[in-house]
Amino acid sequence: MPEDQADAATALLAAVDARAHLEWVCPACDERNPASFETCWKCQHDLAGA
Ligand SMILES: [Zn+2]
Repeated sequence: MPEDQADAATALLAAVDARAHLEWVCPACDERNPASFETCWKCQHDLAGA
């Protein structure tokens, strides 16, 4: 694999890894939720709080 393609692949993996770390853990039930979720999928706890 050409080096520039390897660099691109590394950058892509880093981006995916960074996105994975944007997961948040529900303070109510300790379930992990994707960053795109604003409400816990498991217990419906609102991330924004009330
Ligand atoms: Zn929850």
